[in-house]
Amino acid sequence: MVYEYAGNMHMHTPYSDGVKWHADIAEDAIKAGLDYIIVTDHNVWVSGLEGYYENEQGRVLLLCGEEVHNSRRQPQASHFLAYGAEKELSGYAADPQELINQTNAAGGIGFLAHPHERELTMFSESNLGWHDWEIEGFTGLEIWNYMSGFKNRLADELDNMRLKHPLLGKIRAARAALNPQKYVTGPEKETLALWDRLLSEGKQVAAVGNSDAHGTPMSMGPIHRIIFPYEFLFRAVNTHILTNEPLNGELDHDKRLILRAIGKGHAWVGYDMAHPTKGFRFSGQGQDRGRMGDRIQLDAGATLQVSAPVRCKLRIIRHGVIVAEIENETNLTHIPVEEGAYRAECILPYMGKERGWIYSNPIYLW
Ligand SMILES: [Zn+2]
Ligand SMILES: [Zn+2]
Repeated sequence: MVYEYAGNMHMHTPYSDGVKWHADIAEDAIKAGLDYIIVTDHNVWVSGLEGYYENEQGRVLLLCGEEVHNSRRQPQASHFLAYGAEKELSGYAADPQELINQTNAAGGIGFLAHPHERELTMFSESNLGWHDWEIEGFTGLEIWNYMSGFKNRLADELDNMRLKHPLLGKIRAARAALNPQKYVTGPEKETLALWDRLLSEGKQVAAVGNSDAHGTPMSMGPIHRIIFPYEFLFRAVNTHILTNEPLNGELDHDKRLILRAIGKGHAWVGYDMAHPTKGFRFSGQGQDRGRMGDRIQLDAGATLQVSAPVRCKLRIIRHGVIVAEIENETNLTHIPVEEGAYRAECILPYMGKERGWIYSNPIYLW
């Protein structure tokens, strides 16, 4: 049996710069239909609040990780998402490699948050991407961060418009924030390219996708209170996991199951706002059977299969090269002839434009 759970693993509370507390965020997650959420406040690991939160509508498992960065660095870039380390990690923030090592040594997993960002000079928003590349040993990449992606597309648009008057830019930005779905098209191309490069070097690199919800008003010129509510963001970009056993309602058991699936890459990143991604599968079959995140042996009969919940453009990609593609279908099969890391993508039209919809973790063939 395989069990599927949807969650979001990057968000903030008033412990850092978010507006809602854990219990209220949990309510929003239940409304949005999520099974788990992981709160990641900046430079503070909050203990004692983990567990199931429930109401008449359902329940959600709330876990606490941490988003660590060096607050003395300018800009305050290179944000690291740590999960399951069960200790405060911000003391290691000045040395990203030490931060990664400490996370791993504590039994945790860690992801580079929003690795590629653009500066939004008009609103004094710095590039908070990953800047310290002499590192190794991290679990994976946050390939899609909804809020960061929105800011990047806004920066693109403001550049293209070459607005003479800053006020016009602010009006434009305010309008964009009222209708963010128009702007969000998929993960950053540089991040996907980085992921493909690391995979082509033989590394195992897991991918996650998140909201980065703060619930905060964005101050943008004449319209001062533009809010990206938690619930809205929990209906957008999420990380869906597959497990061999069901969640049983016990915190320790369920936490271990979820973090293991995320760390191993038994997961995909789904843009659920474009269409629910529940039911997506990417699997490999030869002598071994494997799912996303697994290593399986490449034998003569090995096949890879992608299955999407609705018709879309399906692709299988090996090390940055599309090896199979089909339009307007729900299934795609490929017979691989080379070793390597194979990942699947689904593209779907939404709001008049093709959007990145599903990004699977790789199956590693050897
Ligand atoms: Zn961040
Ligand atoms: Zn964040």
